[in-house]
Amino acid sequence: MSQHYGVTCQVCGTTIEDDGFVLECSAKHEEAALLTASYAAKGFNPDSFFDGIFRYRSWLPICQDLYGSGRTITYQSQKLCQFLGLPNLWIAFNGYWLERGATLETATFKELEAYAVLARLPKQCKDVLVVASAGNTAAAFAAVCSQNQIPCLLIVPASGLTRLMFKETLNPCVKIVSLADADYDDAIQLAAYVAQLDGFFLEGGVKNIGRRDGIGTTMLAAVETIEQLPDYYFQAIGSGAGAIAVHEAAKRLIEDGRFGQTLPRLMLSQNIPFMPIYHAWKSGQHQLIPADPSVSKQQVQQIFAGVLSNQRPPYAVRGGVWDALTESQGDMLSASNEEAMAATKYFEESEGVRIDPAAGVAFASLIKASQQGLIDSDARVLLHITGGRCRESYSKMRFLQAEPTLELTAPPFCTEETLMKLVALF
Ligand SMILES: [Zn+2]
Repeated sequence: MSQHYGVTCQVCGTTIEDDGFVLECSAKHEEAALLTASYAAKGFNPDSFFDGIFRYRSWLPICQDLYGSGRTITYQSQKLCQFLGLPNLWIAFNGYWLERGATLETATFKELEAYAVLARLPKQCKDVLVVASAGNTAAAFAAVCSQNQIPCLLIVPASGLTRLMFKETLNPCVKIVSLADADYDDAIQLAAYVAQLDGFFLEGGVKNIGRRDGIGTTMLAAVETIEQLPDYYFQAIGSGAGAIAVHEAAKRLIEDGRFGQTLPRLMLSQNIPFMPIYHAWKSGQHQLIPADPSVSKQQVQQIFAGVLSNQRPPYAVRGGVWDALTESQGDMLSASNEEAMAATKYFEESEGVRIDPAAGVAFASLIKASQQGLIDSDARVLLHITGGRCRESYSKMRFLQAEPTLELTAPPFCTEETLMKLVALF
């Protein structure tokens, strides 16, 4: 194998050389599976030459380095430890907080995945990457593609445009299309429709090994600091890609042998009332419970953490959320809008950092779990915080709001006419 990794199917075990794009196993089998990267290096050895996520390059499916990456910062807060009665609580912080060395410009863990996905592409790739996003993923890809001059088409519901704030004007290789009266699901459908054209390709979401191993560096960074695997890992989930990713990273760390032999229990939460994974898991189902799409759409509009709105999360697929929860002896939790808002407010008062609603959902679930006595007080707990923006670091920066390149004002979006408009952008 000329690469430092291969791509393996979790159902049939086939391993192939990566072309930078492959998302699915080419063998015919009924059960769907997520592909995984299998790395030649079995030990965890960060490369201290790099500050950002490329320090974990031996466990990233990449063929090039990109400019400008940051990474997760892991720290302890005495205030939060005391508040929760958990002296061994650690924060995995993805955001912008210069005093602590957190430099993710778009402030969410999506920036980790953008770097890895883009560094996985062959250098000579001229085709246009298509990404559907509720907002944060688009912001992350816009920033990284702009810095590294990689052409991309970002499809975002208009409600997600406020997320697109940058330090500099975007390079024109980045095209943003906004959809009026639409949600994340509409963006996903249009992205799939466009990507059928020659010259365009889909990023692939959770199926992309670059995306998962990029986000998985959250666990690598945490263990580099703590020097042990946590007992519990708390995160809010929409698709669950982040949870699957840290679970895969934890498995690699166990293989190394120095950081513990027990997988961190995934304590994953969703925002009431939109909780497809919570409901399936709590009723012991290996499949998502079929839902009325109009009810789902209504529920999505009611949640505080709008990014947690994936209506088709990879739950049942081999290597998906069900498997990760089962293998890690994890559990699903929930938080209401009020609980998540109160948690966000408390975090800001305690740390001087604003956090995204999704992180509020995770933090609220941890508060409830500790109050209910679900966590031993000496347990090592890792709380994933995303969208962290330090008030002080932020006040020194001027961020510019990006405008959409094209606005589509009314559904249906998947039409020939739309395709012609999108092709004309490049
Ligand atoms: Zn296969």
